[in-house]
Amino acid sequence: MTRERDGRNERGGVHGNGDGDGTRVVRAGLPEEEPYAPPLPGPVLAAHFHLPGDPAQAPYSYGRDGNPTWTGLESAIGELEAPGDETARTTVFASGMAAISAVLLSRTRPGDVVVLPSDGYNLLVPMRERLEGWGVEVRTAPTGGDAQLDALDGAALLWIESPSNPGLDVCDIRRLADAAHERGALVAVDNTLATPLGQRPLELGADYAVASGTKALTGHGDVLLGYVTCRDPELAASVRLWRKTVGAIPGPVEAWLAHRSLATLELRTERQAANALAVAEALRERPEVRDVRHPGLTDDPAHPVAARQMRRFGCVVSFTLPDKGFAERFLAALRLVDDATSFGGVRSTAERRGRWGGDAVPEGFVRMSVGVEDAADLVADIRAALDEAGRG
Ligand SMILES: *Cc1c(COP(=O)(O)O)cnc(C)c1O
Repeated sequence: MTRERDGRNERGGVHGNGDGDGTRVVRAGLPEEEPYAPPLPGPVLAAHFHLPGDPAQAPYSYGRDGNPTWTGLESAIGELEAPGDETARTTVFASGMAAISAVLLSRTRPGDVVVLPSDGYNLLVPMRERLEGWGVEVRTAPTGGDAQLDALDGAALLWIESPSNPGLDVCDIRRLADAAHERGALVAVDNTLATPLGQRPLELGADYAVASGTKALTGHGDVLLGYVTCRDPELAASVRLWRKTVGAIPGPVEAWLAHRSLATLELRTERQAANALAVAEALRERPEVRDVRHPGLTDDPAHPVAARQMRRFGCVVSFTLPDKGFAERFLAALRLVDDATSFGGVRSTAERRGRWGGDAVPEGFVRMSVGVEDAADLVADIRAALDEAGRG
């Protein structure tokens, strides 16, 4: 309960002192060492806290406003998302969509112009409709080729998703952020796919790093979570007020599980990115597989920009099989890859995206999330499943 309440990274000694990511993640957000106290205190389950006197002075008062377990996680994510030695303030949410809503719905007013990616997360479509219903002008443009640049005139907010889900296109975040700031717009980046160990949007000029913690950040497929990180204290305060007002709060147990998972974030992202590259390279050898995309492939269209702004290329590989039936047979034949949505988990998953109807993708388009299994086993499983699917 000793930590200050808004999730700032105060311990400059830990962050920015040259330690590597693997070192930083195992200590991120932990309280100062205290004899006989646990290194990572357990989840604090409390709807309210003992509250003498003036609530304004209290670190914790009511459970919708703040919770020590959130504070630990918020400090940790703040340390990982913060650029260099700067501090960043994180607010955790019940899900990625709660975090996205906190920025998009709290920042925009009737008459504002908002620029969204046309190829982003599929719930940006109903989000767009909601914003338009409130009199917000929404413009969309694809992520690839920095096409959002042409939509920025008069904009109040630019929303970037790089790499985009599920198409895996990448845009130059710094270039777009500079152009948006010149026009007075704020910039938010959905950092779900990359995680803060893959790229740091704030360092690349964004005002908000927003993400679903449900995916690679927590990586075990057992938690829904989201967060918003910003440098500017006023922006951070308005995000925090939004959470309190709409009540989109994570449970303390989820927050604690997420914090616990962060210790392995470097191990997981490193291994998953290496496995994803091995899988992508193996898929490319197969004539029945088209359009294999992964930002780590050196000749992928996204690679030149990705290599400049990303430190790890993520666990997602996308590709297209001949048709719907082929893709379904392939998914059913996989032994080590579960047919499931979501991504970023320790166990590999894949799905035919077309089954949801929301993304503009071919019927045979598969999004695969590569886990931490042995790469050779995954590659052998994928080859065998392609053989089996090809037999009809
Ligand atoms: C999953 C996802 C979200 C939504 O996150 P939830 O935790 O499911 O609400 C947002 N953006 C991207 C890129 C995602 O993949």
